Amino acid sequence: MIPAAFDYERAESVDHAIELLGSDEEAKILAGGHSLLPLMKLRLAQPSKLVDISRVDGLSEISDEADAMVIGALTRHHDVANSDVLQANCPIVAHTAGEIGDPAVRHVGTIGGSVAHADPASDLPTVLLALGATMVVRGPGGASREVGAGDFFKGLFEPDLAPDEVLVQIRVPRHTGGWSYLKFHRRAQDWALVGVAALAANGSGPTVALTNMGDRPLRASAVEHALGAGADPATAAQLAAEGTSPPSDAFGSAEYRRELSKVLVQRALEQAMA
Ligand SMILES: Cc1cc2nc3c(=O)[nH]c(=O)nc-3n(C[C@H](O)[C@H](O)[C@H](O)COP(=O)(O)OP(=O)(O)OC[C@H]3O[C@@H](n4cnc5c(N)ncnc54)[C@H](O)[C@@H]3O)c2cc1C
Repeated sequence: MIPAAFDYERAESVDHAIELLGSDEEAKILAGGHSLLPLMKLRLAQPSKLVDISRVDGLSEISDEADAMVIGALTRHHDVANSDVLQANCPIVAHTAGEIGDPAVRHVGTIGGSVAHADPASDLPTVLLALGATMVVRGPGGASREVGAGDFFKGLFEPDLAPDEVLVQIRVPRHTGGWSYLKFHRRAQDWALVGVAALAANGSGPTVALTNMGDRPLRASAVEHALGAGADPATAAQLAAEGTSPPSDAFGSAEYRRELSKVLVQRALEQAMA
């Protein structure tokens, strides 16, 4: 289908983007456009204006700071996947970016777009939740705020972002211990029917998070508690679907996804803890 008519402005800076967003409450940011444009073609989104941030300087860098890896929101999935900094200091993020879609998607889609879109079927939000990443958001007047991944994903396509705010960075803690991201899909480039991120020891104990098992990325808290109480991965994994509400669609029923999550959680834990 053809999108509804819209205006287009190219932002020169983050503050310029915020100003443009503030002048039109129906305006939306355009980054890679790989999630927004399909929605516009289906007329599920009808922004009055697109504010294109794709050429804003300084939003596509990955740096190693004392307490975190800092990923600019405009960094393409391909560059996240191939980043030496991330491969050395937080390999689960680099690996997972390389699992997104196909090369064409990875060369255009951005980590910020993936996070801001807040699609529970997306891969990176689950990994960022497991890691306890922090989103850095800029708003009018240069005001900046930081939101933990656990609070940022508020519901289906519902990020903690005001209409005139821009996600500028994602801060990811260093994690070089055991990890796994497993994604079950029918074809190599497909979205996850279910995905599982497992970290062997992240702070207090193993961490497990789930893709496409509810209206947002979810921590598998029952699994984490069981592991903390001494259960082995196979036993703990039986609790993977507790507290979830997976969708049913043409690719699998909710019941199928619940069963699949148990299998994937066990495998992911075994890989992460090996
Ligand atoms: C064929 C295909 C296959 C795909 N497969 C997968 C997959 O397997 N796994 C997966 O996780 N994803 C997949 N994707 C999604 C892909 O990763 C997208 O690139 C990503 O979800 C959105 O990034 P984008 O830069 O294209 O964002 P856009 O489409 O430009 O924007 C998405 C939304 O985020 C907002 N936004 C973007 N950037 C910012 C910002 N910095 N601050 C505030 N708001 C912002 C926009 O206004 C819009 O609402 C696929 C997409 C396609 C087309």
